[in-house]
Amino acid sequence: MERVSDRVACLSESATLAVAQKSRELKEKGIDVISLGVGEPDFNTPDFIKDAAKKAIDDNYSTYSPVPGYASLLKAISDKLKRDNGLEYATNQIIVSNGAKHSIANLLQCLINKGDEVIIPAPYWVTYIELVKLNEGVNVIIPTTVDSDFKITPAQLEAAITPKTRAFLFSSPSNPTGSVYTKAELKAFADIFAKHPNIIVISDEIYEHIVYGIKHESIAQFAKIKDQVVVVNGVSKAFAMTGYRIGYIAAPLWLAKAANKLQGQYTSGPCSVSQIASVAALNAPLDTVQAMVEQFNKRRDLVLAKLAEIPGIKTSKPDGAFYVFPDISSFFGKSDGTVTINNADDMGLFILSNAFTGVVSGEAFGAPECIRISYAASEADLTKSLDRIKAALATLK
Ligand code: PMP
Repeated sequence: MERVSDRVACLSESATLAVAQKSRELKEKGIDVISLGVGEPDFNTPDFIKDAAKKAIDDNYSTYSPVPGYASLLKAISDKLKRDNGLEYATNQIIVSNGAKHSIANLLQCLINKGDEVIIPAPYWVTYIELVKLNEGVNVIIPTTVDSDFKITPAQLEAAITPKTRAFLFSSPSNPTGSVYTKAELKAFADIFAKHPNIIVISDEIYEHIVYGIKHESIAQFAKIKDQVVVVNGVSKAFAMTGYRIGYIAAPLWLAKAANKLQGQYTSGPCSVSQIASVAALNAPLDTVQAMVEQFNKRRDLVLAKLAEIPGIKTSKPDGAFYVFPDISSFFGKSDGTVTINNADDMGLFILSNAFTGVVSGEAFGAPECIRISYAASEADLTKSLDRIKAALATLK
């Protein structure tokens, strides 16, 4: 009998499916479709990292690594946390996994019992809520809007806490909004968590280096809650290494031990070659990252300037990541004479069909009034696609 477990049956299909399907159809017809939907840098992995990977193969890094990762990588991560974030973590508090996504999956599996609540600010990275569901936890979503720069307030956080709250899960810089919490904002949250020692704060810092003119701050810096915080990070975004699949946690020892036990039964340590490449990435000066960020900064300004020309679009100015998350709800109810735009999914398909540009509907991120535009694309493609979007939206009356 074909029966999938309830656990897996309750997961949502990828929200980008309809747009991806339509995009394929258009491409098959020879139409030049531009994708602004991707969640990864469009740069190549720096050569010195590729060289380290090649050397690792020649040096026969081909056997199982220790479950939490090679000692050299744990040391490079510990050093990096000290150097970039001012955080002290011993190497036995660090567990390396197959990408930060896997790190978060491990954490939630280690933390959540059936019915436990996880507080997640919206808009959120789609995977968060799916992983909470998978572990039979309850998502407690705190809504925000473009008017508050998509940031939650301490009062909202306090109101969301119940005796069943087990974790708070957030990303700063944020995917999908690009918002970045300041030190003062994080301090206010830390003051609240200090009153609730049973709550574990999962701080997803995967975009930490991709910030514009500001410094990334970690919530783990506040001593009074350090034992409640897990830092999640990885090499995917900063070093254009998404396919290498290396992410990590720095956690209180008991939680690192639990993640290690789980990982030992589930996946073992991550790819040995990728680990050695990551040692090279993390030990190097951040020049290549900075060069990439300069490009992203220029593109961000270009996209914001182009969006400002479009009546009816409202957007925040993202301080980090490589996404802009405009509110397009002023178009709801409008039509080009053929289709009516009733929600962000409709808008995603409309933009694809009429501006031949792939963007992601905000629905899956818990923001049904927005769309996500990734600027991990060339300036030429960004200019062309945003001009097309402007023309297409002008037909909606
Ligand atoms: N967190 C956030 C907020 C992300 O956007 C992503 C990648 N899209 C990840 C974690 C996971 O990154 P990876 O698994 O490639 O390390």
